[in-house]
Amino acid sequence: MITADLDIAVRHLRDLIDGARRIVPFTGAGISTECGIPDFRSPGGLWTKNRPIPFDDYMSSVEARREAWQRRFAIEETFAKAKPGRGHRALASLYRAGKVPAVVTQNIDNLHQASGVPPHAIVELHGNTSYALCLSCARRHELADIRPRFEATGDAPDCSCGGIIKTATVSFGQAMPADAMARAQELAGECDVLLVIGSSLAVWPAAGIPLLAKRNGATLVIVNREPTEFDEFADLVVRNDIGDALVAFVTH
Ligand code: NAD
Repeated sequence: MITADLDIAVRHLRDLIDGARRIVPFTGAGISTECGIPDFRSPGGLWTKNRPIPFDDYMSSVEARREAWQRRFAIEETFAKAKPGRGHRALASLYRAGKVPAVVTQNIDNLHQASGVPPHAIVELHGNTSYALCLSCARRHELADIRPRFEATGDAPDCSCGGIIKTATVSFGQAMPADAMARAQELAGECDVLLVIGSSLAVWPAAGIPLLAKRNGATLVIVNREPTEFDEFADLVVRNDIGDALVAFVTH
C-alpha cells in the first residue's frame, strides 16, 4: 500500500510498531535534511553540486585529496550545527522502548549517536565523517587537528606513518566495512519489520539490506517523500515528510 495521507500513514505505522517485536530501521540522508544537512538526490542535493570523488581518485591524486578536504571543511559548520531531527528522536524512543535492537544507517553525520542511541547499537554502513582514519595504519585523526594543517599548507595532511588520511567514510569504489555489513545482514535476517527512512535505495550494496529482510519474511516499510527503487516490494510506503510521519513516536 502506498499512502500520502498522513493520518492513515501514522495509524498504519502505529499498528505495525505496536505489533512488532524487532524493528530494524534503515536510514538514509533524508532523515537528516530537516537538520540542515542536504541529501544527495533531492533537488539541490549534494549530488547536483559536487559529484562524489571516487576512492581510486582520492588515493592516486593529490588534487583529488585537496578537493575532498576543501569540500569537507566547507560543510563543517553545517554538520557542527545540526541537531537530531524528529526522525532520529523517534528512533531513539523506539530504541529505549526495547523495540529496536540497533539502527542500520547509510548516514555519516553522527546524528543517531547525538539522539541518544548508544554507539554499539548503530551500524554505520558508510562510516562517519566526524573523524578521520589513516588508510595505512588505521590510526584515528581528529578533524580539528587536520584543519589547521590543511589551511596552512593547502595540502591534505598525511599520517606520521606516511599513510594517506581520509575521513572515516566509505567512498564510491571503496570496500564496505565487513563487520558492519555482516551485522546489518544479521539484523535484517532477524527483524519482523524493516523500516526504511529517507533513502532512495539507489546505493549498493547497502540497498540490498531491506530486500534481504523482506526475503526473510519481514514486513518492509518505506518512509520517503519521493518514490524509491523498491516501493513495489514494500508492504507499506509512506510518501510524506519523515519528521511529520514520525513525530508521533517521539517520547521525549
Ligand atoms: P539519497 O539522497 O539518495 O536519498 C534521500 C531520499 O530521502 C530521497 O529520495 C528524498 O526524496 C528523501 N527525503 C529527503 N528529505 C526528506 C524528508 N524530509 N522527508 C521524506 N523524505 C525525504 O540518500 P541515500 O539513499 O541515503 O544515499 C546517499 C548516500 O550519500 C548514502 O550513502 C548516504 O550516507 C550519503 N549521504 C549522507 C548524508 C548524511 O549523513 N546526512 C547526506 C548526504 C549523503
